[in-house]
Amino acid sequence: MEKLGEVVVKPRLPEEELCREIGDCEVLIVRSSTRVTRRVIEAGKKLKMIARAGVGIDNIDVKAAEERGIKVVYAPEASKTAVAELVLGLMLCWARKIPQAYRELKEGRWEKEKFVGTELKGKTLGVVGVGRIGGEVALKALAFGMRVLGYDLVRREEMEREGVKYVDLPTLLRESDFVTLHVPLTPQTERMIGERELSLMKPTAVLVNTSRGRIVDERALLKALREGRIAGACLDVFEEEPTKNLELLSLPQVIPTPHLGASTIESQRNISLILAEKIRELKEEGKG
Ligand code: NAD
Repeated sequence: MEKLGEVVVKPRLPEEELCREIGDCEVLIVRSSTRVTRRVIEAGKKLKMIARAGVGIDNIDVKAAEERGIKVVYAPEASKTAVAELVLGLMLCWARKIPQAYRELKEGRWEKEKFVGTELKGKTLGVVGVGRIGGEVALKALAFGMRVLGYDLVRREEMEREGVKYVDLPTLLRESDFVTLHVPLTPQTERMIGERELSLMKPTAVLVNTSRGRIVDERALLKALREGRIAGACLDVFEEEPTKNLELLSLPQVIPTPHLGASTIESQRNISLILAEKIRELKEEGKG
């Protein structure tokens, strides 16, 4: 095995400490929770690369990095299966009431009649953002016999050949039994799903968010759930993480997970290998 350099592991550093620690580093590897601000980037005097272990570079000031000629790299393909499988898992949990049945039986109650579920087959899934992960979710949902609607600015022809019907966002929200979000967090997508969008959804519909918490207006979501304007939500991501929104978490119609999208052994291995390769390439460029 080739050694690429010295590795220093310091998880969960606040900005102040990260600015102090970064001085000698040539490569900074972060996950989603560390914010790589302009201050951090400017403190990294030797920095050549910022590597995001995963997908979604909304925690990195890419403009500040580019201004200083620092490469920003990530591992785009590594987690698509992991996230897509979690989405299907969450929808099945919702449809078959698995978390509720699990809890009741662990507490000694065999109450079968309370847990009559529904099937995914024949239901409509709306995929907002039909990119790598959204596309994978769409294919898996088609395999379950779901009707799949897509909303995106790209990949229309390719995904329509697979059986996804592209529609505008209001149509997708009106017609779907499940709406799953897979757009990245950008100024255009922040709070893309607010009160108006939630009001278009069916009262029986479920919102699934495994993308980024801030794509949804959490207050509007809480209100819509409380008032029964939508039936439920499966949430892997939150406006603030770890979330302190106990009002939202405690609703029985919410199935939450603590940002587990990419947390599989396979995904983490893929991420490590992809980033190690990019760092090796950087080292090779340095020699040239
Ligand atoms: P991607 O870039 O392949 O796909 C995103 C899609 O969204 C693209 O097709 C793009 O055209 C579309 N899009 C962007 N802005 C849009 C807009 N305003 N309207 C409609 N469509 C728009 O990204 P991906 O690899 O599929 O990842 C998507 C997101 O998933 C990441 O940005 C990240 O935030 C999130 N993610 C979460 C986890 C997790 O652990 N829960 C893990 C990995 C990724």
